[in-house]
Amino acid sequence: MDIILFGPPGAGKGTQAQRLLASHGTPQVSTGDILRQAVKDGTPLGLQAKPLMESGKLVPDGLVIGLVAERLKRPDCKAGFVLDGFPRTVAQAEALEAMLSSLGRHIDHVLSLEVPLEMVVERLSGRRCCPKDLGIYHVTEAPPKTAGVCDSCGSPLVQRPDDREEVVRARQVTYRKDTEPLKAYYAHRGLLRAVDGTGTPDQVFARIQAALGRQ
Ligand code: ADP
Repeated sequence: MDIILFGPPGAGKGTQAQRLLASHGTPQVSTGDILRQAVKDGTPLGLQAKPLMESGKLVPDGLVIGLVAERLKRPDCKAGFVLDGFPRTVAQAEALEAMLSSLGRHIDHVLSLEVPLEMVVERLSGRRCCPKDLGIYHVTEAPPKTAGVCDSCGSPLVQRPDDREEVVRARQVTYRKDTEPLKAYYAHRGLLRAVDGTGTPDQVFARIQAALGRQ
């Protein structure tokens, strides 16, 4: 199954993509994770992306589309994938449609995680991440067993530079302007499924399973 997880920053896309990977083995294709790795490695792409990401702006469509086209051709995506953070503009959605149709496939579901704005701001300010295995935690809602340390690999957890309050605000503005119009794009194609994104990760995951007809 080819799935898009859609929603504002902080809606829980990454957390739910990791659950889909754990339960069904469907790979998570996160453009945010790919870009953060490029920044860490100091590649030309990373150098170009860094200032944009740190100010809450989008990386140019052409760069991100190229990354995704390469990633979806890898063998682990053959039986399906979960896109997290892509597409983020109508141009990206159109490019995705074209690249999938050239592979003889199509998006099956667009799951739109619906979360009120106050809640996403709270979630992002408390979010902590493992830089090594990319695990996602929250200081109060989903704390690690030992404060500040990744449960699975023991690395110190970090706050993403773009989770600082002023950048969070800029990311919300970018989302409303460039990304939210995609809801109409996918609703028009009959693919959009609204999923209540409030509550615990387990509750949200149960709703996702139901939306996918897996219950
Ligand atoms: P979130 O969804 O929480 O904002 P991501 O990890 O998906 O975070 O993305 C972090 C940043 O990476 C974005 O703010 C943007 O700068 C860049 N980025 C990620 N995906 C895309 C994309 N599809 N198009 C353009 N920029 C992207």
